[in-house]
Amino acid sequence: MEYTGPTDLYIGGEWREATNGDSIETEDPATERTYASVQKAEASDIDAAVEAAQAAVAEGSEWATMDPGTRRAKLHAMADAIEAMKDELSMVESHDNGKTPFEAGLEIDMVIDTFRHYAGWTDKVRGDEIPVENGRLNYTTREPVGVTAHIAPWNYPFQLAGRGLAPALATGNSVILKPSAMTPLSALYYAKAAEEAGLPDGVVNVVPGKGSEAGDALTGHEGVDHVTFTGSTGVGKTVQRTAADAVADVTLELGGKGPAVVFPDADLDAAARGIQYGIFMNAGQMCWANSRIVVHEDVYEEMVSRMAEIAENIPLGGGIDDDGQMGPVVSAGQQQEILDYIETGKEEGATVAAGGGVPGDKETGHFVEPTVFADVDNEMTIAQEEIFGPVLTAIEVSDEEAAIDVANDSPFGLTACVWTNDLTRAHTVTDRLDYGMVMVNETPNTWPQTPFGGTKQSGHGRAQGEQAIESYTEVKNVHINL
Ligand code: NAD
Repeated sequence: MEYTGPTDLYIGGEWREATNGDSIETEDPATERTYASVQKAEASDIDAAVEAAQAAVAEGSEWATMDPGTRRAKLHAMADAIEAMKDELSMVESHDNGKTPFEAGLEIDMVIDTFRHYAGWTDKVRGDEIPVENGRLNYTTREPVGVTAHIAPWNYPFQLAGRGLAPALATGNSVILKPSAMTPLSALYYAKAAEEAGLPDGVVNVVPGKGSEAGDALTGHEGVDHVTFTGSTGVGKTVQRTAADAVADVTLELGGKGPAVVFPDADLDAAARGIQYGIFMNAGQMCWANSRIVVHEDVYEEMVSRMAEIAENIPLGGGIDDDGQMGPVVSAGQQQEILDYIETGKEEGATVAAGGGVPGDKETGHFVEPTVFADVDNEMTIAQEEIFGPVLTAIEVSDEEAAIDVANDSPFGLTACVWTNDLTRAHTVTDRLDYGMVMVNETPNTWPQTPFGGTKQSGHGRAQGEQAIESYTEVKNVHINL
């Protein structure tokens, strides 16, 4: 399928070329052919986007004075526009990122739900009255922070942008979205949706570009009031430092190395199915992946052999012409990084129980076999570092205490899963896991209304839920001497 979607920057309600006319070429990871070429924003384009976004929220502007019911209708209109583009957009996302169209469709459905959820928030954001002294009225209001910047990664390009855009717009902010240069296309469809929904000019701006140029210029811009960054821990640290110059608030959604703890009393069929989704979905390129299984010795062999059998039977393929359930990874560089980790795992003494290389029948495309490592020690590189690919590491433990120790022994703290049918154990183990999100008898899962985020090196602040409303609003305290 040839790409026929938007390719220009979208700034202040206009489609325009980048100042210097440079472009970014995007590759289809399944065919290794160039799929599209889009304009590449540089610092002066970011200046223009910030200026437009500031004008859109200036005192007295249409967006700033819009009543909540009208803003709610605008968010629903965005959701409607996205819903109408779903077929086209899921193909575009599949060709741009490599995920299957089915997986891309899940992303888009989640965004539609997210816009509808936050549409409902437009008339529910409110302050409090605070008792002070007789004859005085003291209360708070919540106001938009102003200009919000959204830096998105390439693994869920559409969904991870949308979970920031929807609450930011619902609370009356303007947004500037910079997608990853590897997957810039679906972000431009937010501009199309904003146009179709009739959002005022400058409320939504989309500026594909390189992280080190456009991303750096955006996160350090004095006109930006809040930065939502989703990406790697290393870049997240840089973004936080850069944003400090502008005293901008920062939400960081970073990497993960999630454990799935499996106890002998668990339903092993359900656990295996859940873990399959949690590591082989999206070719394992998920911050929330359950990439480490921490398994009690009584069921360790059983779980490893189940996961190996699952891994060996996943049909691979990308794009529309294949019945693949797992696509290629996003780029040759990412593929090589994953293969290097697999080599490191072997060198450090882990055993390959399934996969472990490039599939023999896939000469074209950045495919990696679904891989399962057994005999993994939690100190190994493959158990400590985020591989960001379809590689599962299985660690054996002797009891509950050891399971909790191993699960918590990680620099990351995003998601953890517990598989058990013992109600007391489910609660006590959950309580002791140092993770932002813990699931019991469930693969990592999330909804627009639930907070998403992590502890430790996985970041701070929360996407989604009521917490996102707090991130995108500033509290004003008003005191009246009656
Ligand atoms: P990345 O950090 O390389 O890039 C993320 C974004 O930051 C891209 O848009 C990139 O262009 C931009 N960027 C790069 N350098 C920048 C700079 N100096 N200033 C401003 N922006 C800059 O991450 P990635 O490889 O695209 O994504 C994979 C990572 O994202 C993984 O670590 C994954 O765990 C993480 N992730 C986290 C979540 C979460 O919700 N916690 C979700 C998805 C992905």
